[in-house]
Amino acid sequence: MQEKACSWYIWVRQAVREVNQSGGNSLSAVVSLVNSMIDQAILWRVSDLHLEPMRDGMRVRYRRDGLLQEDVRKLPKEIEAAVISRLKVMAGMDIVQRQRPQDGHIRYERDGKKWLDIRVASMPVTNGEMMVLRFMNLEDEMLKVAELGFSKRNQQKFETLIHRPAGMLVICGPMNSGKTTSLYAAMNALNVSEAKLITLEDPVERDLAGVNQVQINPKVGLDYVTGLRAVLRQDAEKVLLGEIRDSQTAEMAVRIALTGHLLMTTLHTEDAPSVIFRLLEMGIKPYLLAATLSGIVAQRLVRCVCPACRCSHVVEEGSCEAALLGDSYEPGMVLWHGRGCIHCGGTGYYGRMALHEVLVMDDCLRQAVLQQCERQEFSHIAVEHGMESLWQDGILKVKAGFTTLAEVRRVLYGS
Ligand SMILES: [Zn+2]
Repeated sequence: MQEKACSWYIWVRQAVREVNQSGGNSLSAVVSLVNSMIDQAILWRVSDLHLEPMRDGMRVRYRRDGLLQEDVRKLPKEIEAAVISRLKVMAGMDIVQRQRPQDGHIRYERDGKKWLDIRVASMPVTNGEMMVLRFMNLEDEMLKVAELGFSKRNQQKFETLIHRPAGMLVICGPMNSGKTTSLYAAMNALNVSEAKLITLEDPVERDLAGVNQVQINPKVGLDYVTGLRAVLRQDAEKVLLGEIRDSQTAEMAVRIALTGHLLMTTLHTEDAPSVIFRLLEMGIKPYLLAATLSGIVAQRLVRCVCPACRCSHVVEEGSCEAALLGDSYEPGMVLWHGRGCIHCGGTGYYGRMALHEVLVMDDCLRQAVLQQCERQEFSHIAVEHGMESLWQDGILKVKAGFTTLAEVRRVLYGS
């Protein structure tokens, strides 16, 4: 982060003076410091703010567009405890308890009218207490299916899948790959007065008007399995299940899909074909899977080229980019990248979009599940039957100038 952008830092010196003089009794500068840190994070479109105690002060890091960036300056050791205590008070946490991890929640007033949900989690570490603030509903608008970044072909497939009357649709990908956003967009598209929609979520991430949202609460015995069993008696058509975590939930989900409901859920797998094998490993019988699974969407988020500093370059023959493009390379081809500017904090990227891999089950793929084909063979059949891989979708978006090859490679292969 740029040093000049750290407006919250003007409060630090005052807060240090205050803490040293008052011994922690009157801390208005600490309050202003914390508020201004939160405001700055919102302004920077930060998804998570990390406060990490080090020996020489508190390290401040931000996650923006999926990447962690460190602030150039640390918070002085003297005010560390005061800042953590202030955040604990705001989040309704126990300020005396410093030995155990705690969770809290801040409803932060923004611009005098809008409310922002911030989830706070603390954890004791050797140098003090570590804290992470997660900003929940930063993007106010609910995305529509057309805004999810699908290619035209994949969007058609996705829309067909969500408008089917029954069956199971699984969205997969690692943490923070936008799975919930896609599910919510699908739910929104299905949200008409003729259909009863129920969601089972842990936690409920966003309010969906017209949808019956159930917060999973294992403390009172309401887990995913109990919730799904109750859904069967609620005369619902479409069910959103937050996540399949174990075999019991998987079995119930299949049962729901088998009894004439559309069930949409998520799984943590790398790609679309892996979902089939994960569900089989969880004990789902191949014939039940073949009968219920209608489609799988794998997704990842890549950073977009910053619109304020984007510029083009010609891909040289024999260059690294040309090699990565493979068959997609054409001589004289032009791609886009960001030079870095104030708007994007010098990174050349601004905002994110999704890459997708959409697998629609057809008779041939069902047969492959029934015959319990090898994983590789299954992927091969899926591609033959029209599935474009995440990499292929990435190339398409690079060619369209939305993102860069380096970014797609980083997200899909880590380098
Ligand atoms: Zn820029």
